[in-house]
Amino acid sequence: MSARILIVEDEEPLTLLLRYNLEAEGYEVETVGRGDEAETLLKERAPDLMVLDWMLPGISGIELCRRLRARPETKALPIIMLTARGEESERIRGLATGADDYIVKPFSVPELIARVRALLRRASPERVADVLAFGDIALDREKKRVSRGEREIELGPTEYRLLEFLMERPGRVFSREQLLDGVWGSEVYIDERTVDVHVGRLRKALNRGRDPDPIRTVRGAGYALDDKFGKTA
Ligand code: CA
Repeated sequence: MSARILIVEDEEPLTLLLRYNLEAEGYEVETVGRGDEAETLLKERAPDLMVLDWMLPGISGIELCRRLRARPETKALPIIMLTARGEESERIRGLATGADDYIVKPFSVPELIARVRALLRRASPERVADVLAFGDIALDREKKRVSRGEREIELGPTEYRLLEFLMERPGRVFSREQLLDGVWGSEVYIDERTVDVHVGRLRKALNRGRDPDPIRTVRGAGYALDDKFGKTA
């Protein structure tokens, strides 16, 4: 359920750079180099967000933006406008035309990605909701809440981080040392048995009665989330 991003930009090296980096962030990326082609494409299907260059062959970005805002289907489409011009009056015109955000070239890729993420979050919170799910366990990173089925689960900060770490990589087996590095940080010097203590607490919090245990102890190796659990629960 990755968000789809349409990049409308005629500078090929920039298009490639943005595509590469946005795909690396897990977004689905489509690119087009002309304003009129973008308009045709947008009539077929709307992306979740559009990165739109100001100066384009065919129709200019600003004109395209105005047209999109006039159509009910694309009225609310999140748009980030790119431009090489930095004049204040131009910026205001860009925003007045209906772009949600505005970024002046040259910009850094992380900056653009941060804007994309922020705009998507504003536009459709569920798409970027930081909720991890594993079987009947859900971990909400924004609210820092964990639940199993209907039951809310109280976890200490270490157990929370441990569960989050495991849920980010379900099925993978981690040695105690890897868990120490990943959860406590490699700077900290803690006995590896500490890991067992916290895994024990996490299990106790997660499992009630006959609940299947989501955590697998791998003898001589470490711990993992049991991928069988993830499929059946
Ligand atoms: Ca251009």
